[in-house]
Amino acid sequence: MNEIIEYIKEAERIVAFTGAGMSVESGIAPFRGKNGLWNEFDPEEVASAQAFSEDPEKCWKLFKLQIEESFESEPHQGHHSLAKLEEHGLSSIITQNIDGLHQRADSSDILELHGSLYRLVCQNCQNTFKTDRFLDEIKEGKIPRCECEKILKPDVVLFGEALPQKVLRRAWREAEGCDILFSLGTSAIVQPAASIPMMAKRSGAKVIEINLEKTPLSDEVSDKFLKGKVGKKLPEIVDLL
Ligand code: NAD
Ligand code: ZN
Repeated sequence: MNEIIEYIKEAERIVAFTGAGMSVESGIAPFRGKNGLWNEFDPEEVASAQAFSEDPEKCWKLFKLQIEESFESEPHQGHHSLAKLEEHGLSSIITQNIDGLHQRADSSDILELHGSLYRLVCQNCQNTFKTDRFLDEIKEGKIPRCECEKILKPDVVLFGEALPQKVLRRAWREAEGCDILFSLGTSAIVQPAASIPMMAKRSGAKVIEINLEKTPLSDEVSDKFLKGKVGKKLPEIVDLL
């Protein structure tokens, strides 16, 4: 722990990279592992671009669940610790999460690699709407539609869709320009997002990982691996600063 505190004190730029495990303690199910959504849904069937074009109603079963879960949950101590870490050099958060919890903990620079459930888009006329506006009807089980009648899609990256290139390029720059990269609650399997900690490492950053279990990063890339809950471990670090 002392070494980690020293790293942080010496660092000028710190970047956090977060995955679904970051939100588990807020009550949001991860994709894989215990209580993972993939135990219940087949991703290709409900969360792919092809599935959405063929049967959007079916996809909305998963979207409804994800939207309700996200709107009802609250950021936990780990999210608040990241917001506080800005006083000690945290410059941005690169997240794979779509639940908006970093925003709600008042972090200031958040790069959403996989988009956000807080916006809905029309693939016909490219209109964007705040999900808020449709929340009541979504909860009632209705499927939100654009003024042009097309079924709206959450502004998230589905399987088979490209990541937002501008956001991805900024994320790479952030990873290459930081002195410390925290990898938090991510299985580090999904590409290209999984390459972010690797890029930071190659550019000379220390990689500090917090996860319930070892990942492909833990032995190969991470300078420090802390086994445990991010909502517990991260506040322990930040409270020592
Ligand atoms: P993942 O579901 O593949 O893996 C979650 C990881 O978090 C696992 O390694 C697990 O050991 C770890 N974990 C679980 N609880 C933890 C805790 N309390 N503290 C620390 N670690 C914990 O997640 P991923 O790597 O982010 O996979 C990426 C995909 O999942 C992305 O496409 C992302 O969009 C999507 N996703 C996002 C959300 C969300 O927005 N909250 C939820 C589910 C899935
Ligand atoms: Zn439209």
